[in-house]
Amino acid sequence: MIDLLVRNIQTEKSSSTIDIAVKGGAIIDRGKGLNYRSTALIEGDGNLLHPCFVESHLHLDIALMNDPQTPGRPEPYLSHYGLGVSLEKRRRTFTQEDIENRAVTAIKSASRHGITAIRAQCHVDREIGLKHLESLVHVREICSELMTLQIVAFPQQVLTNHPDNYTLFQEALRNGVDVMGAAPNLDRDQHGKTDFRAHIDMGLVLAVAADVDLDVHVDLAIPPSITLDELETVYLARRVIEYNYENRVAAGHVSALGCASPDIAQKAIEIIHDARLHVVCQPDLYRLGREDEQNVRRGLTRVKELLNRGVNVTYASNNVRDALRPTGNFDLLEEGLILAYGAHMDTVEELNTIMKMSTYNSARMLGLQNYGLEIGCDADFVIFDCQTPSAAIVGQVEKLYVVRKGKIVAENRRFSTGVELSK
Ligand SMILES: [Zn+2]
Repeated sequence: MIDLLVRNIQTEKSSSTIDIAVKGGAIIDRGKGLNYRSTALIEGDGNLLHPCFVESHLHLDIALMNDPQTPGRPEPYLSHYGLGVSLEKRRRTFTQEDIENRAVTAIKSASRHGITAIRAQCHVDREIGLKHLESLVHVREICSELMTLQIVAFPQQVLTNHPDNYTLFQEALRNGVDVMGAAPNLDRDQHGKTDFRAHIDMGLVLAVAADVDLDVHVDLAIPPSITLDELETVYLARRVIEYNYENRVAAGHVSALGCASPDIAQKAIEIIHDARLHVVCQPDLYRLGREDEQNVRRGLTRVKELLNRGVNVTYASNNVRDALRPTGNFDLLEEGLILAYGAHMDTVEELNTIMKMSTYNSARMLGLQNYGLEIGCDADFVIFDCQTPSAAIVGQVEKLYVVRKGKIVAENRRFSTGVELSK
């Protein structure tokens, strides 16, 4: 007797339909015409079964902070810096109960959209201490049935501006943080200048000392031009190689790489590749190019060039309905379509790559064990209402079933009626 038998499904690799058998939360068999007695049965009807989505970068502690009935931006867009100030003001009113309630709602929504793992950015600073972290640690425990949660210590009030920061982040790393975070764009000295090198060094030292991965917000701006040595990502990659920390560091945004000339970009991508950085491209279309009065820029990194060089590239929601981005639905199928437009990725092969970016590539970045559809893998998968990944993205089809560790955690159906034509 097994726990779940899924019949007649298509995978992205199989040329014909197969069945999948699940027991004890794992895939124990796959092939044609499996014959098992099972507690639960899903008739796949020839639809696509794919490993679950993995959200590689989400600010979970501040998500859903806007009124759910009027989810647009509550005040006009000022500047990226202005939004940060607004965020700081609004988050002072958060209670732990409020953070937990919003995070649980977010996780339920993400689960319904086929996500089973999230790397969550979480504010840690001297003003709030570990308040947000304690909330997310609690949420991680109560939502473990639905979600694997990796918590990143995000230095919202920067790292290098106070000697106590080092011990604060050490404390956070002892109290439930999985990944050290960094955001050199936020770090300013008393003259308002950014010292991204000192910030990156401090983040790296803390991560290496605690033997955890590092996740850095880098190159968030889009200057008119940029040199190789001015790219924060290049500095990060060089330091990662010096520390022998290859494959353990993620670089988010990397928008300025798009501003570099092609020859500089090529050199930068080579260094990024050598450092085995994971690159998380964000839906920066909402954020950058606001001052442009003609030929408004997109602000995306060089997604295709990075992929072509063999860099592990993912995409992520980043902000969902918070002070920075008022949109988003914890739906990586939706973000994937936005990426398809933004990065000009529209061939069948490129759309298939987009699906891999938010599944296999993200799982690799998070270091998830037993991810995939082979025998022995965790039974974490989605059954889409279509037969191929490109059909899922272009059609924004429903995720008919979401299965987490062998248990059906969501069923979604779209129902509509229309008039019958008389001719
Ligand atoms: Zn972020």
